[in-house]
Amino acid sequence: ILILGVETSCDETSAAVLRNGRELLSHVISSQISTHQKFGGVVPEIASREHLLHFQGVIRQTLEEAGVRFSDLSGIAVTYGPGLVGSLLVGVAGAKAMAYAAGVSLIGINHLEGHIYANFLNTPDLEFPLLALLVSGGHTHLVYFEGHGHYQVLGHTRDDAAGEALDKIARALGLGYPGGPQIQKAALSGSAQAFDFPRAMLEHGSLDFSFSGMKSAVLNTLNSARMKGEELSVPDIAASFQQAVVDVLVRKAMLALERTHAKTLVLAGGVAANALLRESLEEKLNTRKVRFVYPSPVFCTDNGAMIATAGYYHYIAGDFSPWNLNAVPGLNLV
Ligand code: ATP
Ligand code: MG
Ligand code: FE
Repeated sequence: ILILGVETSCDETSAAVLRNGRELLSHVISSQISTHQKFGGVVPEIASREHLLHFQGVIRQTLEEAGVRFSDLSGIAVTYGPGLVGSLLVGVAGAKAMAYAAGVSLIGINHLEGHIYANFLNTPDLEFPLLALLVSGGHTHLVYFEGHGHYQVLGHTRDDAAGEALDKIARALGLGYPGGPQIQKAALSGSAQAFDFPRAMLEHGSLDFSFSGMKSAVLNTLNSARMKGEELSVPDIAASFQQAVVDVLVRKAMLALERTHAKTLVLAGGVAANALLRESLEEKLNTRKVRFVYPSPVFCTDNGAMIATAGYYHYIAGDFSPWNLNAVPGLNLV
């Protein structure tokens, strides 16, 4: 089974060819980070135009490197949401045209499911039930999986996503975009105990998240220091905020594991690349009988391989999309 996976939901034009769900024959990621960097974040209008410019080249290169033709494919999997509408449309329209012309199946993929399925690429022998902690740029979810395609959201953020909060604090600290990796880097030379930022745990036993107040606490600290003409240490703020975010994520994940008795925890989304988060969970989990799995960094942020992987499991379940598949910018996990 050969699946072409296509991802264009935000600022990465990416595609991959995957054989039998585990063998990556090719993987191309064309990132627009340098284009958006000067604006301090993704500019939607520019993103969709960039996808248009790069789409055909990325697809051609992906097929060439894999040594396959359109007619060899079993199906084409494409992100149809959530994301920026103009960006999603390039991928959806392109995938529909390719699948129709080649006479192969079209498989619409939820981008968030794709992030989680990056784990099945690295570790195909994952066993259900499993708990997924999805921490991406726009989402923070705890999801309980009973089987492929059978899942239940146990908790989600009520305001900002963890990645979004890291990006905003990085911006306020003048560290640039994307912020998560910059915070991690700056934190290396700072102290996580320098500032006692709040950890929002919400009501007792809640599996929801709230990062907006935590972000505001940091911004207030920065502003009042500026008003007094004080210089605060950027590494100390970065380290203390990173620690606060990681503490909340770890505590909620542990709570969800206790509640569900899941024997596997998978991490997903861009923030899953964070070293402190990985190490903290690893440390907590090696004393319990819980398997802890996370994708390698390139499969944490947006990529076509995770979409191809999710596409493979949809394909073998016979779960295809109609030709009127459309972009759904506000799609979520339900
Ligand atoms: P979504 O998937 O929710 O639609 P997205 O696709 O923009 O959003 P991802 O590509 O999954 O998000 O992840 C990007 C996020 O990951 C950004 O917020 C970025 O700062 C964060 N990130 C990337 N690497 C790291 C890291 N090493 N530490 C912390 N955060 C990181
Ligand atoms: Mg991106
Ligand atoms: Fe993403």
